[in-house]
Amino acid sequence: MVKNLVRRDIREFDPYKTNQIPYKIKLDANESPFDLPEKIRQKVVDFFLKGPELNLYPDTESTELRKILASYWKVDSDNIVVGTGSDQLIQVIINVFVEKGDKVICPMPSFGMYKINTIIGGGTPVEVPLKREEDFEYDIDLFIETAKKEKAKVVFLCTPNNPTGGSIPKADIERIVKECPNTVIVVDEAYAEFSKESSVDLIFKYDNLIILRTFSKAYGLAGIRCGYSLSCIEMAEELSKVKPPYNISSLSQYIAILTFKEREIIDKQVEYLIEQREYLMRELKKIDKIHVYPSQANFICFEVPDASLVHKKLEAKGILVRSFGNAPVLGNCIRISVGSKEQNDILLKELSECLK
Ligand SMILES: *Cc1c(COP(=O)(O)O)cnc(C)c1O
Repeated sequence: MVKNLVRRDIREFDPYKTNQIPYKIKLDANESPFDLPEKIRQKVVDFFLKGPELNLYPDTESTELRKILASYWKVDSDNIVVGTGSDQLIQVIINVFVEKGDKVICPMPSFGMYKINTIIGGGTPVEVPLKREEDFEYDIDLFIETAKKEKAKVVFLCTPNNPTGGSIPKADIERIVKECPNTVIVVDEAYAEFSKESSVDLIFKYDNLIILRTFSKAYGLAGIRCGYSLSCIEMAEELSKVKPPYNISSLSQYIAILTFKEREIIDKQVEYLIEQREYLMRELKKIDKIHVYPSQANFICFEVPDASLVHKKLEAKGILVRSFGNAPVLGNCIRISVGSKEQNDILLKELSECLK
């Protein structure tokens, strides 16, 4: 009965899958290996002892958090909208701009939520393939051409791109934004702390640009669900209209503020992970039968002769990685998060064993 009542486009719909199995080392979701720093934990305890006022609704505008983010980015608080993870903002963007049948350009392969949210929102995703033979580079001309041909409402770009790891040069991003003035261009910078490139300053030049950032990756706060957008104020006002009220819990707002204030701790973790990424890249390249794709993120994508088999063998040893099996464009690719030195060494050892 239920099935017959469900919207037709949702009936056949392929949901986002996550791993919830026991593990020793978890390298499948691009998470940080660092839990909340001790110094911040103590402050969270103090916050609780003082009375966290959990009987009251949280500040729906995340005023304090937006204020410190704004001062860091040298923008106004009104340029920023905070979401329950940047995931929520992807959904908000679709809800604001996409009507039934409107086209949304999604890179392929890239983050699955662009397509999923487009379908849920009633839009039509148009996938533009990346160039696998050129290390999964974005074909900028093809993006512009397709956006124009399809009269796309929204174009999603992801840099560094999940799951492949490469960055889009900033000049290329600006070209797309400039040449598609009637399309909203969303630049997802979920991993930009690891590439040290950002297009945030372009929001003052182009009103059709939205940048997405998150606390889930470099900040090691995937568990609090907090992300934000930067855009011109007019755009931010439209997004705010649709954002659910009270979306960020008081506790999440508090932890995000504290962690952002203790950025030096995070900066050191980022430096460590970049070093570990370079180490892993060098070591992976030494293993026979592996082809490694370049990465500017906290994860690495590589190709093996049989990804499903490697995935299964690693899983049996308690090591979780993301396998793309025979997914289109990503056939036989595996993605691993960069972990601690200790985790990375175990992974390298077990992976070489698997491929013997
Ligand atoms: C992990 C990730 C996000 C973020 O998610 P949150 O909802 O902020 O946890 C956004 N975009 C990409 C490409 C990601 O990989």
